[in-house]
Amino acid sequence: MALIVQKYGGTSVANPERIRNLARRVARWKAMGHQIVVVVSAMSGETNRLIALAKEIMPEPDPRELDVMVSTGEQVTIGLTALALMDLGLKAKSYTGAQVRIVTDSAFTKARILNIDDARIRADLDAGNVVVVAGFQGVDEAGNITTLGRGGSDTTGVALAAALKADECQIYTDVDGVYTTDPRVVPDARRLKSITFEEMLELASQGSKVLQIRSVEFAGKYKVKLRVLSSFEEEGEGTLITFEEDDNMEQPIISGIAFNRDEAKVTVLGVPDRPGIAYQILGPIADANIDVDVIIQNVSADGTTDFTFTVHKNELNKTLALLREKVQGHINAREIVGDDKIAKVSVVGVGMRSHVGVASQMFRTLAEEGINIQMISTSEIKISVVIDEKYMELAVRVLHKAFELEEA
Ligand code: ADP
Ligand code: ASP
Ligand code: MG
Repeated sequence: MALIVQKYGGTSVANPERIRNLARRVARWKAMGHQIVVVVSAMSGETNRLIALAKEIMPEPDPRELDVMVSTGEQVTIGLTALALMDLGLKAKSYTGAQVRIVTDSAFTKARILNIDDARIRADLDAGNVVVVAGFQGVDEAGNITTLGRGGSDTTGVALAAALKADECQIYTDVDGVYTTDPRVVPDARRLKSITFEEMLELASQGSKVLQIRSVEFAGKYKVKLRVLSSFEEEGEGTLITFEEDDNMEQPIISGIAFNRDEAKVTVLGVPDRPGIAYQILGPIADANIDVDVIIQNVSADGTTDFTFTVHKNELNKTLALLREKVQGHINAREIVGDDKIAKVSVVGVGMRSHVGVASQMFRTLAEEGINIQMISTSEIKISVVIDEKYMELAVRVLHKAFELEEA
């Protein structure tokens, strides 16, 4: 007997028929003698609908109140899922994040899980129940409802699997695994049988929405066996996230391409080139709990320089306001400008460690299409470029071809 956590995304619970389908799959696993915990997202489109509703009342909604209402999407689907399981004759119990006690910090709309009380779930499982838990939500120490950021149900699934020491966490979605890139953008993208944890972490952090990055972090930290599968197919092995590179296999240099249209670029023009300036600019941003991604600063020719970095689009206005209010005068910067018409494209692969020339091939491919590179950042296993948003899909397609990632 194994303990398995199955997470179902929005399209997998989009309507009653799909929820019944999910329940039939759970019933099959249960019939094999396994204990099953199900984590569900809201019905597809529901979280967007709720956020839009809030914005009709307040364009930049108060984060605490936003979480109170946005978390309701998952409360609907846990109830429906439990009903569908009962209708098949199974014992089932549903819980919100707060009821389980998935305790998070108080960073509303992007909270982090601190700990999970698994006593209730274990008792229910031992009593023969399928336990259904709302994804994406938790509760802080003070009892406030929190949410874990978009795509956060993945993280609920993996964190529960870690807390329960589950044998496997299965992420059921609308694709049958992790592909070389988003198959919606490149139709001949190829499914990967396995991908290393490191590469998955990099792909997720660079924008591949198939898994939320924090879910991959949890899987790495707690060594959760993690698999991505299709909820629309009966069979299929999906993609396994592995912890070791398989020595027997011929490793491709590049495993995948990720892209991200969610970032915006902020440039502080004409800042003095002196020690401490980066801290003076980014300190107030960090204090406001705003994540900064790519950062570029040049040395100066004339004593002043430009300082550029990216933040989430949702936080562009807040960042600009903060800089203008707290930083600009202080450091005597000429101007602060924002640009939200950018995209970031990244090639990822552990093979980069042992091969040279990946960057030059990437830059040549983009140059041949006349695509201008605005920012570059690299790590040991990835190269990212920031480009004009309107060339993003073209860039992904030509790079996918140039690195020979398509279906053979
Ligand atoms: P769910 O609602 O099940 O969580 P998501 O929409 O969050 O589903 O994630 C699945 C989607 O991720 C796919 O439909 C696909 O368009 C997208 N995606 C992006 N990059 C990849 C990739 N490398 N492999 C597979 N799917 C990807
Ligand atoms: N419903 C949430 C969202 O749309 C969480 C999730 O689907 O994982 O982001
Ligand atoms: Mg998702």
